[in-house]
Amino acid sequence: MKMSKLMAPTLRQTPAEAEVVSHQLLLRAGYIRRSSAGVYHYLPLAHRVLQKITQIIREEMNKADGQEIVMPVMQPAELWAESGRWHVYGDELFRLKDRHNRDFCLGPTHEEIVTDLVRNDIRSYRQLPLLLYQIANKYRDERRPRFGLLRGREFIMKDLYSFDRDEEALDRTYQSMYHAYSNIFKRCGLTFRPVEADAGAIGGTGGTHEFMVIADSGEGAILFCHQCDYAANVEKAESALTETVSPQEPLDMLTVDTPEQRTIEEVSNYLNISPSEMIKTMIYRADEEVIVVLIRGDHQLNEVKLANLTQALDLELASEEECQQISPGGQGFLGPQGLGALKIYADKEVMKMTRAVAGANERNKHVVNLCPGRDFQVTIEADLRMVEAGEACPKCRAPLEEARGIEVGQVFKLGTKYSTALGCTFLDEKGKEKPMVMGCYGIGVSRTMAATVEQNHDEVGIIWPMSIAPYQVIVVPLSYKDEQQREIAEKFYQNLLQQGIEALIDDRDERPGVKFKDADLIGIPIRVVIGSKAIKEGLVEVKVRKTGEQHNITVEEATNKVM
Ligand code: ATP
Ligand code: MG
Ligand code: MG
Ligand code: MG
Repeated sequence: MKMSKLMAPTLRQTPAEAEVVSHQLLLRAGYIRRSSAGVYHYLPLAHRVLQKITQIIREEMNKADGQEIVMPVMQPAELWAESGRWHVYGDELFRLKDRHNRDFCLGPTHEEIVTDLVRNDIRSYRQLPLLLYQIANKYRDERRPRFGLLRGREFIMKDLYSFDRDEEALDRTYQSMYHAYSNIFKRCGLTFRPVEADAGAIGGTGGTHEFMVIADSGEGAILFCHQCDYAANVEKAESALTETVSPQEPLDMLTVDTPEQRTIEEVSNYLNISPSEMIKTMIYRADEEVIVVLIRGDHQLNEVKLANLTQALDLELASEEECQQISPGGQGFLGPQGLGALKIYADKEVMKMTRAVAGANERNKHVVNLCPGRDFQVTIEADLRMVEAGEACPKCRAPLEEARGIEVGQVFKLGTKYSTALGCTFLDEKGKEKPMVMGCYGIGVSRTMAATVEQNHDEVGIIWPMSIAPYQVIVVPLSYKDEQQREIAEKFYQNLLQQGIEALIDDRDERPGVKFKDADLIGIPIRVVIGSKAIKEGLVEVKVRKTGEQHNITVEEATNKVM
């Protein structure tokens, strides 16, 4: 491909709206452009990376007996009514009506539609296991689309659904998917960790793992053990712990002595509540600058005490309305259960800290129908133990370490939730009718691309792992106008293409500095510079983007090296 023809509009400035590195670099390097909130164009370079990731996924899915199909994006409401999700899925579901006023949605996930497909055509145990997958756009009206491709409203997902005859068979399928996922992310060149997770809104009874790409910008908090192989997201670790620890003693308030304090740490000192407990009880408001902190305790945080506290710490008391927002009915606030609510105007550091512990769970991050006592009191205890005692590994009691990660995939045992609801059954050897036992397995393809950038970049740009780079080599003649240089460069470039190497040639009439900057920014793994040395001594300069390693070698050597 010739750079002069490539639509890769690079930017010198970092766009102001981009908060995280992958969003910044993908915009700057001309990979993506925003169309509307959470909806993006993938330009040619991005398209190539997505194709590479998709191909790896496809190979691993096929190896595990997955069969690729394409299912409708547009789904009739009736199917969602059958599973019961039409009314519970909430605002994330993009709903639309046809001209006859019939309800549809744009698929955020495909359990209903695939179950409908299978129930109509698969009847016998002989046809199981059946693994169907697709790679397609998904639609979710995310409350906060952000971070570029990491949280879009239209995004690419691979989703596979498995149908088995019993739990044992599902276990085998699940294992093989788990294995395939590990292969996929390894082949993409990512540092990742599968972690035990909680079954969220999707339901189902069996186990589930999330595949987390380790990155500081990740929205998910995970805990892992160095001593054994235990790793879980924070929510899951907490629920594991809730089962093993008894509630803490009630906490009492201390008196004020340093009125200037106002960091989370200090507030917690003051209240004699551990920071982790404080943090755990925080509920983010949508604007993310103000956080409302709920303080639990049997110590009767009454209005007078709260007022004193807020004055002493220069905080604002949350209004009744705000409390109501968090907990409709308002019970537990300023009431007999001794829960109080404070407003803290958080600076970046505080937000970072709270995020670090609060985890990715939407429930903990946004104002939703949380009921103190019912929804989070127990997890507070667990969290307190876990972080403070530092010996909370549910398997071996060793200290747990914390890291941040981006969820790039999830494998999930659904059991018979959807097959029972939709009547997706088969006949076993004895002719007995049984519901199929299902699993679902998703990978965020566009998110994986962004996560790769989060993990592989430096100050000057992206550093693609070879396996998913849009091009493997970029050939840069210092002066394309120079006839001799052009000839050598073109020959070298054509030679690469003949060997099946994906190469770019920078044939633009630009200064070398501009060409180098762009090559670094777009992140091509190998750069070959052809200048006057090539003419005089037959030498070209080969540079490895990742290590900075540089060699002046002959054109023949370069061709061999690049291979
Ligand atoms: P999250 O917790 O980040 O909201 P999820 O658990 O809701 O993700 P799943 O339903 O498990 O997502 O979907 C499978 C995969 O699709 C996720 O692991 C993730 O990689 C990807 N994904 C989910 N939501 C988005 C999104 N809004 N933008 C891009 N990718 C997404
Ligand atoms: Mg989600
Ligand atoms: Mg999730
Ligand atoms: Mg998930």
